[in-house]
Amino acid sequence: MRPAMKPLKPLDEALAELLAQARPLPATDQVSTLDADGRVLAQDCISALQVPAQDNSAMDGYAVRCADVTAPGRVLPVAQRITAGSACAALPPGSAARIFTGAPMPAGADAIVLQEDCQALAVERQTPSGSAQMPSGSGQTSPDHGLGQVQINARPQPGQWLRHAGEDIRRGAVVLTAGTRLTPATLGLAASIGLDRLQVARRPRVALFSTGDELVMPGTVPPGQMRPGAIYNSNRFFLRAMLLRLACEVSDLGIVPDQREATEQALQAASAAHDLILTSGGVSVGEEDHVKPAVQALGRLDLWQIAIKPGKPFAYGRVGPAHFIGLPGNPVSSFLTFALLVRPFVLRLQGMADVAPKPIAASARFAWPKADQRREFLRVRQHPMGGLELFGNQSSGVLSSAAWGDGVVDNPAGQTIAPGDSVQFIAFSQLL
Ligand code: AMP
Ligand code: MG
Repeated sequence: MRPAMKPLKPLDEALAELLAQARPLPATDQVSTLDADGRVLAQDCISALQVPAQDNSAMDGYAVRCADVTAPGRVLPVAQRITAGSACAALPPGSAARIFTGAPMPAGADAIVLQEDCQALAVERQTPSGSAQMPSGSGQTSPDHGLGQVQINARPQPGQWLRHAGEDIRRGAVVLTAGTRLTPATLGLAASIGLDRLQVARRPRVALFSTGDELVMPGTVPPGQMRPGAIYNSNRFFLRAMLLRLACEVSDLGIVPDQREATEQALQAASAAHDLILTSGGVSVGEEDHVKPAVQALGRLDLWQIAIKPGKPFAYGRVGPAHFIGLPGNPVSSFLTFALLVRPFVLRLQGMADVAPKPIAASARFAWPKADQRREFLRVRQHPMGGLELFGNQSSGVLSSAAWGDGVVDNPAGQTIAPGDSVQFIAFSQLL
């Protein structure tokens, strides 16, 4: 007689239960900001200065007082030359300053005129007569600073091409908060307030192993010599890669045979020095699925059948001090349950608060006429003209779908899709 089926657990419920177990690792590391990409901040980053520190020029050109250029064509003596990183003096009334992008604005100046809108005039005594014309209307003679003169051909508006002190970051502002996962842009932002080292969450230590007597490591047996029924271990490659992208330290424990004793030994050995033991395969309820009884013998196990397709079997438990997560063996199931459940879990271990992927609305360019009882994650790809294309074979064993796709449609249970329907798209860039 078949045992009574437990109802399948909704994904959101499974994720909430899983995250409730993922208490952030206590220790932190201090790392160079240069090496912190992908790590999760363990500190708030507070700016001790304003950025930019001073008003400065957004372009190469001339700093002026707008009151001195009430009409195009005015000629002003060039009082100083200000380069990025240099100091400057106040701008005397009736003069201009040659200025470059990022250079500090001299006191008194209130606009930058683009160099394209200016004409530099050489100092009159050094030029052949007639070439440095004094435009009409500039009646007065100007002091000569040895930098020549400039004709301003466009009337400036106050504040134009000026970057204001503090317009990016105010002094005392919390620029990044603890729990933020660092990206190239946030590393730059931290550096812009002078932080050369950052306190980040310790890397989770993850032991990874695959189960299955049919598995062969690529490189050990050539394709032509594979025995009948043997398959190459593909899960190991994407699981390891995804863990590394999530800043984990991975101990690769290889393939564990479908034997109870070997499985227990592998789990036991891994439990002491790892935060998480992650396995693929062997978590269904067949007689050759030894992971379940082995974890139960050594610790505790919550085996869930999750109401998603693909990816139904999923196990969470503990082996000694380590967390245990057992993923299904089917490659696409393994890939997606990692993305939907393990990724949030390992990010939460690092103290990241907002770990849920963010779907966006997109238009289907395909039909999905047969609704499923489970919430489905369909492998799709963004079409260059907009909308989503569906991969033809959505079987949980067809890893080509995940390699071809650039995301999934999160399709609610019982939902069919017609071309043009709005669907929820989760990009793999959100999941990996
Ligand atoms: P299992 O969950 O162990 O029953 O495995 C389900 C299916 O996934 C079987 O067809 C296995 O051969 C396949 N499978 C399990 N582990 C892997 C792996 N590491 N790489 C590729 N396929 C796998
Ligand atoms: Mg198996």
